[in-house]
Amino acid sequence: MPASHPSPPWRIGTGFDSHAFAPGIPLRLGGISIPHACGLAGHSDGDVLLHAVCDAILGALALGDIGALFPPGDPQWRNADSRIFVRRAHELMRAAGWSLGNLDATLILEHPRLGPYRESIRAGLAELLAAHMDTISIKAKTPEGLSWPDTAVAQVTVLLYR
Ligand code: MG
Repeated sequence: MPASHPSPPWRIGTGFDSHAFAPGIPLRLGGISIPHACGLAGHSDGDVLLHAVCDAILGALALGDIGALFPPGDPQWRNADSRIFVRRAHELMRAAGWSLGNLDATLILEHPRLGPYRESIRAGLAELLAAHMDTISIKAKTPEGLSWPDTAVAQVTVLLYR
């Protein structure tokens, strides 16, 4: 890349993740525990929202994805608290001189209803990312017309600025 390549003072990133529900494991979403009969299966704690947050930040930084940073076959990440991954992505972001402008997330899942937990998830994410709650948006949708009753999907967009 030539030295004169223009570099705007903002970067955008998107993240996507999906995990299947499975009985008998705790449900972790956005870094909090939610009472439910099923949790999200995965090598780590299966926190689909935090994984998409990581990918959005890493995407904005053009640093690959969560699997490159935390290989799913690595035993040290078995049942890991996914907040570890977000903290690391956030550290990389800060070290590269970027700040979070805002984050907008959509969760798509049939159950459970997330309304009662939305503010806790926002507050937890704001703390993880050292951001004001006003910059963190969490939306929840049911998968109308999609055959996803046993899957949770998360989509996240972040805007970073210098
Ligand atoms: Mg994942």
